[in-house]
Amino acid sequence: MVNTIGVIGLGVMGRNIALNMANNGEQVAVYNYTRDLTDQLMEKLDGQTLIPYYELETFVQSLAVPRKVFIMVTAGTATDSVIQSLIPLLQQGDIIMDGGNSHYQDTERRYDELKPHGIGYLGVGVSGGEVGALTGPSIMPGGDLHFYNEVAPILTKIAAKADGEACCTYIGPKGAGHFVKMVHNGIEYADMQLIAEAYTFLRGNLSLSVEEIADIFETWNEGELKSYLIEITAEILRKKDNVTGLPLVDVILDQAGQKGTGKWTSLQAIDNGIPTSIITEALFARYLSALKEERIQAQPILAGPAKNTQSLDKAEWIEYVRQALYMGKICAYAQGFTQYKMTSEINNWNLPLKDIALIFRNGCIIRAEFLNVISEAYDEKADLANLLIAPYFADKTARYQQSLRNIVCEGIQSGVALPCFSSSLAYYDSYRTGASNANILQAQRDYFGAHTYKRNDMEGTFHTEW
Ligand code: NDP
Repeated sequence: MVNTIGVIGLGVMGRNIALNMANNGEQVAVYNYTRDLTDQLMEKLDGQTLIPYYELETFVQSLAVPRKVFIMVTAGTATDSVIQSLIPLLQQGDIIMDGGNSHYQDTERRYDELKPHGIGYLGVGVSGGEVGALTGPSIMPGGDLHFYNEVAPILTKIAAKADGEACCTYIGPKGAGHFVKMVHNGIEYADMQLIAEAYTFLRGNLSLSVEEIADIFETWNEGELKSYLIEITAEILRKKDNVTGLPLVDVILDQAGQKGTGKWTSLQAIDNGIPTSIITEALFARYLSALKEERIQAQPILAGPAKNTQSLDKAEWIEYVRQALYMGKICAYAQGFTQYKMTSEINNWNLPLKDIALIFRNGCIIRAEFLNVISEAYDEKADLANLLIAPYFADKTARYQQSLRNIVCEGIQSGVALPCFSSSLAYYDSYRTGASNANILQAQRDYFGAHTYKRNDMEGTFHTEW
């Protein structure tokens, strides 16, 4: 029997990717290192055909040459272990795709390890969760272009579609695909936190009910904020708890989890001198949320501002929140795309920023109308320094910045933390400042450490005996 592709790892993502491939006409071999998941999947098949294997060797032998193997296992040592078991079974020209959330530097290491064997290695970023995997995820493949070309017909077939185009494009060499997926997740952290802060303001400062906020999010989802995350937040707010009858969000513990991709995004940015303060602030907000016990103890000890009796006009302030959220989103995406641009320059990757925005339009978690305008900005100017200065965004931020200021000021006055809104404003104001306060830092550095400084009125390096 000749199968056109094989999938290893039949957990949540792997089994859905395999079904997606089968639904798109591929003959798919499936293998999982423990037998149970394979058996469970075969029992649940509903008209689709997947070909199960219980030995890795027969699984590999069943594949058409060049063999195409898609790995979807827990990222880390499991990925390494699967690759090591595959090496003796594969031949030159065969292709391994890793669809897991692998760190892009692990992908680069694995690429280098497989190169001498002549085995193609593609780090394939996949976003869209369980449903996306089944119905069409956004796919970010990186590695050698000629190997990508071999698998492109399958990947583009199973990818989500936006305006008839597949949400899958060749990203760049080696770990570029997994890098783009990693930063996508960092942007997602910021987007989610900004939405959470908009909710906080509507609930706390405007005293709106959860139901009313659900209505607002639904309305917002019909305009320029239209996105998957806004849509699901409206649905989340509608959900009632079966036990108490309360809105489910009111009984969900306020401690955020994370699986590491946001942290990787921030670490990479810090290592490479890339300012991604909003994304990192979103990560820190999760870390702070995790200190639940400490926060409960601190609550009666630490003072806040005097009770704010100012009553806010609801309709007016709901619109400020909407504009502040859109503006925060612009700033967060500007940071994520700066991370793409600067890392692309460091690694000579030539990342296709316009196309990256396009493949995020459907399938992935950050899918949004908004990505069309980002793509257009890079279409107009491929080497754009920062999205903020693209005409569309410069115009938008000029009109919305006052709303963000209003919300941040009101948050500060009322003692409500809005870390990503505040960080967005600080980034915007810092980025639009031709003259920063780093002259003071340079003077201090020269004072205590003779680190020298440059002058803005003459060439050279200077030191002062302070
Ligand atoms: P699951 O935990 O559902 O599945 C993990 C799979 O890996 C299982 O098939 C498991 O087999 C297998 N596995 C674990 N350890 C080993 C090992 N040592 N050797 C071989 N196989 C092993 O995870 P998901 O399907 O959610 O995630 C899979 C990958 O996809 C991860 O890298 C994840 O980060 C990534 N991803 C997940 C998304 C999501 O929304 N869930 C979205 C995008 C990417 P067994 O159960 O038999 O141990």
